[in-house]
Amino acid sequence: MTRNCAIYQEEDLLAWILGDPDPVAGQALTEHMAVCSACRERAAEYRILHRSAKGLRGGPVVRWRRFDSPFGVMRVAASGAGLVALSWQDESDDAFVAGLERRYPSTPVVCDTDRLAPAEEQLTEYFGRRRPRFDLFVDLAALGDFQRTVLGAASGLDFGETVTYTEIARRIGRPKASRAVGNALGRNPVPIIVPCHRVVRTDRTLGGYTGGLRYKRALLDIEGRTDLLGSHGQTEMPLG
Ligand SMILES: [Zn+2]
Repeated sequence: MTRNCAIYQEEDLLAWILGDPDPVAGQALTEHMAVCSACRERAAEYRILHRSAKGLRGGPVVRWRRFDSPFGVMRVAASGAGLVALSWQDESDDAFVAGLERRYPSTPVVCDTDRLAPAEEQLTEYFGRRRPRFDLFVDLAALGDFQRTVLGAASGLDFGETVTYTEIARRIGRPKASRAVGNALGRNPVPIIVPCHRVVRTDRTLGGYTGGLRYKRALLDIEGRTDLLGSHGQTEMPLG
């Protein structure tokens, strides 16, 4: 707790931080501040609050929201430039936010349902087989060059189109790197939107998928690729 000052009140300090309209009073408080540690400490606290309030108003933030999907609770997050995360992992809101804070240590993470409504709408349409393409920006700037290149190549795949890991490796000019391509796709922070599920193995088996192969099967089923789903044909996911 900071001590109180006998001369100046909270509102005097706030006015001074916000730019006192009275220059004489402002100057007097500046001089007082040099000799009063109570006012100095309080002013420092108010200045920190003022700065974070300004950041929330105009500075960059990462926004997130949650919604229900056939895969369970989904959480989506975006920077000012585009989507940075999509997850249906079984975790709490706090754990999801903590993950974002680790990735963006200097950016406030705020819950915002309005700005991310289009992401929810488009994903809901996709699951309902009413949307073959997403009109959403993705922000991959925080990723390493290799992963960004791999995800960029996967982003070019159309609804229902599949290619092999080897083919992605060839397309990015690293023909021997198909295993690294698989790893980069496996750490895709924005699955479905960046359609890493459209990359399969050379022998037409599905390869891996973050969170479980049944999700990859469900996504390929939505896209009409039952030819890739093996003898089961259908998925067990309650879709559409
Ligand atoms: Zn004082």
